[in-house]
Amino acid sequence: MIRKFISRVFSGKKPRAGHHEPAVIPVSTHGITRDRISSGSRRVCETLQQHGHKAYVVGGAVRDLLIGAEPKDFDVATDATPEEVRRYFRRARIIGRRFQIVHVMIGQETLEVTTFRGLLDEKTKTDEHGRVLHDNVFGSHAEDAARRDFTANALYYDPASEAVIDYHHGVGDLKQKTLRMIGEPRTRYREDPVRMLRAVRLAAKLGLIIDPAARTPIREMAGLLENVPPARLFDEMLKLLTSGHSVKCITQLRDEGLHHGLLPMLDVILEQPMGEKFVMLALENTDQRVRQGKGISPGFLFATLLWHEVLVHWEKLKAKGEPKIPALYQAMDTVIDVQGEKLAITRRIAGDIKDIWALQPRFEQRAGKRPYSLLEQPRVRAGYDFLLLRAESGEIDAEMAEWWTNFQNAEGHERAEMLLPEQAGEKKKRRRRKKPANAAPTTE
Ligand code: ATP
Ligand code: MG
Repeated sequence: MIRKFISRVFSGKKPRAGHHEPAVIPVSTHGITRDRISSGSRRVCETLQQHGHKAYVVGGAVRDLLIGAEPKDFDVATDATPEEVRRYFRRARIIGRRFQIVHVMIGQETLEVTTFRGLLDEKTKTDEHGRVLHDNVFGSHAEDAARRDFTANALYYDPASEAVIDYHHGVGDLKQKTLRMIGEPRTRYREDPVRMLRAVRLAAKLGLIIDPAARTPIREMAGLLENVPPARLFDEMLKLLTSGHSVKCITQLRDEGLHHGLLPMLDVILEQPMGEKFVMLALENTDQRVRQGKGISPGFLFATLLWHEVLVHWEKLKAKGEPKIPALYQAMDTVIDVQGEKLAITRRIAGDIKDIWALQPRFEQRAGKRPYSLLEQPRVRAGYDFLLLRAESGEIDAEMAEWWTNFQNAEGHERAEMLLPEQAGEKKKRRRRKKPANAAPTTE
């Protein structure tokens, strides 16, 4: 130790990041006993340790336990390579994303096991803005800690000793409710601009203050998000929106100047006064469901976020004389295409979104057999929930939503009595539709 220190002083070198001794905080101080972590993560750590490796629960789970929140999932960090990890477990597979991780299945649990990552150096591949493209170099435990984003996320829990290993004063920062970046924030944002979104999401979710050194550069560096691959932005937006604190996250994104021009969807959400009420209602609704442990569908969520954008396009097309239903479909495609460029909404989710939108005009039809056949549609429940939000936000008459609530609850004969009379125009149109195929196209 002393010799190392002296040689450092005389060589004039600063200690390299990731090369200092960590604080080892005993269970008597932090109080997290091993029964607080999932049985799967315990098994994984024990197995790896039995094979002579280091293995710890890391990241969000340790952070959440320290502040008394329920961890979402348990991640493990180890000095075993992905290949080694895979060999130790019967149900394990390597998945390669930005860096290789191993998914280990234990009972119902899937654990993400990552190998300690090394520091970036001159050889690390980046794009012209400094964003790190490949990140697969393994390293020591200390280096792994230095590569994590925030001090509160660089905590390691050892189930064997029940100690928390803290290289960057994360426990102290958490006590002070501060989210502090490891290293120089500007450099870290350049390496990975998504860290700006993570800062906002974690602060909002955990009730932490972003340390000014990490907060100040966000405004000036927000533009770097434009350069992030759409699929990653979509993942991060989904995390943010399903965090149970989406209203707070979105509000804070706006406060930090992260919504403007980068994420068209957020422009849409926050800069349409008409849509803001609808979207906020939808997000409150989602937050409530998440906190009650109910499932939420990404399709429904994105359908609400983009609905008012669809309405704007739809109105324009109708004003140009485009028939109602084709105009709606055209508006839907335009909105999905524009968002897709930035957010890479997956094709399946795009399908769900369109189903919900396409059902909306069908709720207007409350005569004859149509209400019955609408209720047979596979996505009608989501479409109806969507209708309720539209009514609650004042976009449509509350009467229509009430009618559908009552119609669904009514008995057979009551239903028949509820039906509205066929309008003269409706009948005429339907008769016209029955004309042979070579007749002029009908309009609706
Ligand atoms: P959540 O509660 O949302 O799961 P989390 O902090 O666990 O929060 P994950 O995305 O699961 O977030 O990441 C696990 C850990 O990996 C983080 O705690 C952090 O240590 C590290 N990490 C994740 N993303 C980054 C990043 N962009 N840069 C550096 N480290 C990261
Ligand atoms: Mg996590």
